[in-house]
Amino acid sequence: MKNKILAELSKIISQKLKQDIVSLGLVSDIIIKENRVIFSIEVPKGLEKEFAYIRDQAEQNVAKLDNIESVLIALTSEVEKAPPKPQAKKISNKPDRKLGPDMRPQSQAVIGVKSIIAVASGKGGVGKSTCAVNIALSLKSLGQKVGLLDADIYGPSIPRLMGISERPEIKNDRIMPIEKYGIKIMSMGFLMEEDKPVIWRGPMVVSALMQMVREVEWGELDVLVLDMPPGTGDAQLTMAQQVPLAGAIIISTPQDLALIDARKGLKMFNSVDVPIFGIVENMSYFICPKCGQESEIFGHGGAKDEAIKLSVPFLGAIPLHIDIRRYSDEGKPIVVAEPKSEHAKIFEKIALKVAMMLKQGVA
Ligand code: ADP
Repeated sequence: MKNKILAELSKIISQKLKQDIVSLGLVSDIIIKENRVIFSIEVPKGLEKEFAYIRDQAEQNVAKLDNIESVLIALTSEVEKAPPKPQAKKISNKPDRKLGPDMRPQSQAVIGVKSIIAVASGKGGVGKSTCAVNIALSLKSLGQKVGLLDADIYGPSIPRLMGISERPEIKNDRIMPIEKYGIKIMSMGFLMEEDKPVIWRGPMVVSALMQMVREVEWGELDVLVLDMPPGTGDAQLTMAQQVPLAGAIIISTPQDLALIDARKGLKMFNSVDVPIFGIVENMSYFICPKCGQESEIFGHGGAKDEAIKLSVPFLGAIPLHIDIRRYSDEGKPIVVAEPKSEHAKIFEKIALKVAMMLKQGVA
C-alpha cells in the first residue's frame, strides 16, 4: 500500500521546484493505521502558498486509492536550527578554581522515557489542559507510547478530563500510573481531596513535580506530555530548567491579553534553552452547534501572526465548540469520543507535527 501511495504522490510536481515531491524528499514516513493514512509534507521556505495547494492535491490523489478511509496530511515547515539542548551536567570532583563550582541544576534523563514535552500557557483558563489531553491521546493514536503528567498542581484537572477517580497503587516504593484510553497518567489530583485545595510553596511545587517525573513507574515511553501549571513564575521556570524537556507547546487564545502572556511563556522557555515546538491557538473561532456557522468572536488569527513575528511554528487553530467542553466534562476527551470529527483531525494534525519534530530532532 505504501508503494501505491508513493506512486500517487510522485505524480505531484512543484511548479516552483520543477520536481515531484517524493524525489525532492519532502514526504515523511507514511503511517497506515486501519485504513487511515497519515504523513507530512515539508514545505520549503517561501513556498507556503504552493504547498497548501499541493497538500489538497496529495489528499485527493491518495483518497481515491482503494480501501482508504481517511487521509491526514500535515504541512511541516523547516524550522531554523534550535539552540543546543541543555546537556546533563558533568560533575567534576575537581572544581575549577577560577570559575568556581558549577551551580547550575542538574538535568538528568528519565530512564525509559525517550522525550518529555511541556504544554504551557502564560495564564490559566485558555484550555491548556484540554489541549494537553487531546494532543497526548492523538500522539497515542499515531502509534506512540504516551504518558501524561498533570504538573498543574495548583488546579489539577486531568482526573476530571480523563474521567479518573481511582487512586494510583504503590508497588516497591514506585507509584504506578493509571492507564486510560491507552496512555499512562499521573496527577497530583489523584492524591488530593477535590474540595480541599493544597497550598503549595515554591520549592515544594518543584520537588513534588520532580518526584512525579522520576518516581512514577512510567515504563517505556516514546513521549511524556507534561501539563504545566499556568503562568511564568518561579515554579514554572524551575520546572522548565530541571526537567529534561525536548520542547514546549504554548497554548494561547486569540485575545491580545492572552498573547502577551503567551509571549512571556516563550521568553521563559527561551531563557532556559528549551526549544519551542510552536503555538496552538485555542478557542480560535466559534462554531455554532445549531447552524454550524463560524464566528471569529475573538478576532481569529492573532496567534498565527504572532507565531510568524516570533519565528516559531504555528501548530494549529482549535475552535471554541460546545462538544469539546461537553466531552471534557464527561471525562471522555473529544479525540476519544469522536475520533473522526473535524476537531479530532485538528488535534491529530498538531500531534503529527509534534511527532515529526521530535523525530527530526528539530525542536
Ligand atoms: P486551562 O488548563 O488553561 O486552565 P482547561 O483546559 O481546564 O484550561 O479549560 C478551561 C475550560 O474551557 C474547560 O471547561 C474546558 O472544557 C473549556 N475549553 C477548553 N478549550 C475549549 C474549546 N476549544 N472549546 C470549548 N471549550 C473549551
